[in-house]
Amino acid sequence: MSTIFGKIIRREIPADIVYEDDLCLAFRDINPQAPTHVLVIPKQEIPRLADANAADQALLGHLLLAANRVAQQLGVGDAFRLVVNNGAEVGQSVFHLHLHILSGRRFRWPPG
Ligand code: AMP
Repeated sequence: MSTIFGKIIRREIPADIVYEDDLCLAFRDINPQAPTHVLVIPKQEIPRLADANAADQALLGHLLLAANRVAQQLGVGDAFRLVVNNGAEVGQSVFHLHLHILSGRRFRWPPG
């Protein structure tokens, strides 16, 4: 089932897109939790990381490399955090796999 991120991929709703290639798209989060907060999403509609499988191995690797590339491009490549929320209980609200790139402030560990 398509989500709001599917609409962004299909350009049905606007987004502040910072990177795109054949397999993924990166755009600024509409409700940023840090000075830099960008989402990297696969164009393939995988709801959660838990729904990915061995056939998605190359795509998942691609997303990590794309996240690094976007961080470098945005000038935060030396200090950024990646977050993947998997499941509503841990805060996933959009069921289209996405990596949060967060940077530009101090982060606590463990995360809350
Ligand atoms: P999560 O809670 O991990 O599922 O993250 C979903 C993220 O998507 C949240 O940080 C939202 O602020 C963000 N979000 C929801 N709708 C949009 C949108 N239309 N454009 C950009 N970011 C969005």
